[in-house]
Amino acid sequence: MNTRTVEPTRFAAIQGASWTIGSLILFSVVFLTAAGCSGETDAKPAGMQDKKFPVMKSAQEWKEILGEDRYRVMRLHGTERAFSGEYHDYKKKGIYVCAACGKELFSSSTKYDSGTGWPRFYEPIDDESVGESRDESYGMVRTEVHCARCGGHLGHVFPDGPEPTGLRYCINSISLMFEPAR
Ligand code: FE
Repeated sequence: MNTRTVEPTRFAAIQGASWTIGSLILFSVVFLTAAGCSGETDAKPAGMQDKKFPVMKSAQEWKEILGEDRYRVMRLHGTERAFSGEYHDYKKKGIYVCAACGKELFSSSTKYDSGTGWPRFYEPIDDESVGESRDESYGMVRTEVHCARCGGHLGHVFPDGPEPTGLRYCINSISLMFEPAR
């Protein structure tokens, strides 16, 4: 075998390896960006499996009430696409309530600019409004947050928010409904 045949083969192998590594990096970036806020998963965190809530309904009832997209996020713990929701850049004054049961969850006064495509708040409207569970999906340990009345999945809370709490509640727009201040 002479060098003219060996070198192109080796070059092709190196090219192939580079392409594979490039694809893996690109996939990792896309995956981590998507999972960074809320996490795309159809599996409820283990801590949510047997929780009881004041409002409980069957899967079929929730499907009928919520519709397909909202059901996927709120009951199957999915995530809306970044920048696709109604409230990521919404600045009106009022209250954000649970889209499934109407419970008051967040005030616009605690909402801050995110630029990541999902609405962010530094605290819930009161201590009773939002529940938490441990979410170990995607090899990460995150704190899932849900409506304390119906258990509807909202998003996650992270310890890298602004003062005064230092918390970042990263929430799916589709889990919320806005009620303007009167
Ligand atoms: Fe709710």
